[in-house]
Amino acid sequence: MTRILVFSDIHANLTALEAVLEDAGRVDAYWFLGDLVGYGPQPNECVECVRALPNLLAVMGNHDAAVLGKMPLGWFNAEARNMIVWTQSQLSPQNLAFLAQLPEKIITESVSLVHGSIRKPITEYVVSDSIALASMALMETPFAFVGHSHHPLCWQSEDTKTIQFCKGQNGKKVGMKPKAIFNPGSVGQPRDGDPRAAYALYTPEEHLWEWRRVEYNISQTQNLMLNMGLSPYNALRLAVGK
Ligand code: ZN
Repeated sequence: MTRILVFSDIHANLTALEAVLEDAGRVDAYWFLGDLVGYGPQPNECVECVRALPNLLAVMGNHDAAVLGKMPLGWFNAEARNMIVWTQSQLSPQNLAFLAQLPEKIITESVSLVHGSIRKPITEYVVSDSIALASMALMETPFAFVGHSHHPLCWQSEDTKTIQFCKGQNGKKVGMKPKAIFNPGSVGQPRDGDPRAAYALYTPEEHLWEWRRVEYNISQTQNLMLNMGLSPYNALRLAVGK
């Protein structure tokens, strides 16, 4: 059986990323849904770690786009904006070049990968039934994997009118039925009240999805942020997963 690690929103939190990669163990491929950088203290290390993963598919997130100057900074709140400017000052030319070649959307055999939504791949949050249905109407594949909201969620609709919504939690498995939109949650800045790093495992032969959570050394990331003079707010929120 093929095991694919599906992960999103690392946000330069290397400690969380390493915990996820170790917890997932051996996988056949890595599908990353955007926002490698922004908020966290180790943007270069995170880009280098992801760049080196074998069988990697990766799309661009809104923070990645902003760091590249492809999105107006006014779209972001003050805390996020400051981190984007700081990240720009930190990233090596090679790591900026890696971010710059990320596509907005990748279509595999049966899955579309985007950061936001199928309708607006970089910016739209899939957070309601109506937004999910709008994206399903545009999907060229039975399934879409999205990030951006930092919440582990899914929507499934077998008839384009009714839709089932569910929230992910550690160890929860779902048999995917077309059409479906799945979000693995966030590696580096969870916002669903569970501070553990979030990811998912996808088994394409069975169309099986499993949400996973793993503890990581949150205070290590927080200390790095505070020692570098980065936002105390963004450091503190990691401990509560909000
Ligand atoms: Zn994000």
